[in-house]
Amino acid sequence: MSNRLEGKVALVTGASRGMGASHARTFVAQGAKVILADVSDEAGEKLAAELEDNAIFVHHDVTQPDSWKSVVESGVSAFGEINVLVNNAGVLGPLAATADLTENDYRNVCRINQDGVFFGMKAVLPSMERAGIGSIVNISSIAGMAANYGFPNLAYVASKFAVRGMTKATAVEYGRKNIRVNSVHPGFIQTPMMVEATNEEGGDALAQIPLGRIADPQEVSNLVLFLASDESSYITGSEHLVDAGMLAQ
Ligand code: NAP
Repeated sequence: MSNRLEGKVALVTGASRGMGASHARTFVAQGAKVILADVSDEAGEKLAAELEDNAIFVHHDVTQPDSWKSVVESGVSAFGEINVLVNNAGVLGPLAATADLTENDYRNVCRINQDGVFFGMKAVLPSMERAGIGSIVNISSIAGMAANYGFPNLAYVASKFAVRGMTKATAVEYGRKNIRVNSVHPGFIQTPMMVEATNEEGGDALAQIPLGRIADPQEVSNLVLFLASDESSYITGSEHLVDAGMLAQ
């Protein structure tokens, strides 16, 4: 099948690199039009050129409500009402025990990972209501399900738990409007963020993973594609692990 997202207009945040870029490529390959939104302009413009008429890049900071307003306006004027939103942009923040975490670092992680998801849903929901259908995929983490000993990361864990909660709150509110909202919880995925984190941690992630390997971003995109598409029409308000068995331990 190669038209699983025919007629869909998707906005993907953090789309310039890592998993966001993989989701965008996957969506276009399945027939969607995609708005690539990111603070990284050069990589984003390059990806938009690769995807030709099927994508536009818009400079966008998820922490800024005004930026959300203009990215939605640009997307709607390029492709029509938005019916898929992937809130993917996120940062890991410093690894520091709770007493050592600065207030600034705490707030910065929560602003991007948590506030950004709220602002995103708030900005895109009216377009989905006009479209009469919508699927929002909020990217959380296994850290949104459980903390991990030896990986001190209060702000990241707090923000990713919040994403799971905001997903449920919005899903129950908007179900009758034909708008579904789900969260995705990746384990260790080969992206620039993961490389930076495992370098800091000494690179012993492999020992913790039951499947014994780190994932390719495409393995997460396969799940995000399913949730974005109408194939998941009876699925809302739930969390979806793609973690190689990490949380089965
Ligand atoms: P990544 O490689 O660091 O890519 C994230 C992208 O988001 C970057 O292009 C980044 O730009 C952009 N970004 C950062 N702050 C932004 C902002 N305020 N507004 C808009 N864009 C912003 O990360 P990734 O590994 O693909 O992660 C994607 C998502 O998956 C994140 O939410 C992350 O928490 C989650 N996740 C990742 C893993 C993993 O193993 N990689 C596991 C679980 C969950 P800059 O490069 O300029 O900062």
